[in-house]
Amino acid sequence: MNWLRRLFCAHRYEWMRNIYGDEINLSGGKRSLWGCTECGKVQARDDLHDDGDLRGIAGPLPERGWD
Ligand SMILES: [Zn+2]
Repeated sequence: MNWLRRLFCAHRYEWMRNIYGDEINLSGGKRSLWGCTECGKVQARDDLHDDGDLRGIAGPLPERGWD
């Protein structure tokens, strides 16, 4: 009955891992995998998730109110 649970699940996705290399092509161009904590449904997304490694490269966001 897991399909029934997924059918009514609102899905709360948590990041699982990013996709690199050849696996990007195998997954059709997806860059990250997310799993629902409620029903276990796995979703692939186009965006590479920032798991901390990329933090600091782009620098801080500009503060608002300076225009
Ligand atoms: Zn779900």
